[in-house]
Amino acid sequence: MKIGFIGLGNMGAPMAKNLAKAGHEVTGFDPAGVAVEGVAPADSAEGAVRGMEAVITMLPNGEIVRAVHADIVKVADKGALVIDCSTVDVDSARAAHQLAEAAGLPSLDAPVSGGTGGAEAGTLTFMVGGGEDAFARGKTLFDIMGQKAVHCGAAGAGQAAKICNNMILGISMIGVCEAFHLADKLGLDRQAMFDVASTTSGSCWSINTYCPAPGIGPKSPADNDYRPGFAADLMLKDLNLSQEAAESAGANTELGRHARDIYDAFVGSGGGKGRDFSAILDKLSKG
Ligand code: NAD
Repeated sequence: MKIGFIGLGNMGAPMAKNLAKAGHEVTGFDPAGVAVEGVAPADSAEGAVRGMEAVITMLPNGEIVRAVHADIVKVADKGALVIDCSTVDVDSARAAHQLAEAAGLPSLDAPVSGGTGGAEAGTLTFMVGGGEDAFARGKTLFDIMGQKAVHCGAAGAGQAAKICNNMILGISMIGVCEAFHLADKLGLDRQAMFDVASTTSGSCWSINTYCPAPGIGPKSPADNDYRPGFAADLMLKDLNLSQEAAESAGANTELGRHARDIYDAFVGSGGGKGRDFSAILDKLSKG
């Protein structure tokens, strides 16, 4: 398939590379001029859209997604499948769908979970919103870039699932960091704490797979001086999205709000900017 890929950052680059490795003809565009193995560079977004059977975007936020998709629909070939894999607000996802629908193009919102490691290994999970036919077409691509694709419902449902999932992640990472911090204060060995909590009722992705304590558990950003990984700024972005959604839907998400406030302080003045979201433990340890 001829695929255009727009946004070749930490996530987009390995995703595009995996599509090319699987034999697809991939053309990529990023204003930062990133070179990706196997991917033909375009010098404009338009160059990564014209003549393509599918166009995928992986961009920083909803405002950029709206602007880029407004340009995509102007030049996309008839019938081209438009997929946005960025994490954005539900309203921006629906706006991108509406732009595609007005141009007669099938579209999907398909945010991902699994981080840069999952993007590189091709083991992402896709949460997908949009029509059945579009999902069936997109699934062949999701199966290359990931290990699982869940069709969550109509336009915007993928983003709704992503926002709820990452609210759990933000809350659970803070919980795990606070537990390690308390363990330190109580003189409990971190390895013992991991051995117990990772195999009992405390177990969760934040401790079992992405342990925030350096040298403990499987390799994670904590072992790389908390270089992201999944940056604290991006977690803050997702927690803001969940709080905006909770306010507009009238949902009571007190822990989600508290987690947002903790990441807001961490990124704003707590030294967390540019660091992995698990570095909350480092901050707690240093006082
Ligand atoms: P990134 O900042 O590394 O990459 C974004 C890329 O978009 C950059 O290379 C930037 O140059 C490019 N870009 C910006 N404006 C553009 C435009 N107008 N046209 C084309 N390209 C443009 O971010 P990332 O970590 O790759 O994240 C991308 C998306 O994936 C975000 O929405 C993020 O929330 C989501 N996400 C990230 C992770 C993660 O672990 N990093 C995990 C899941 C989801």
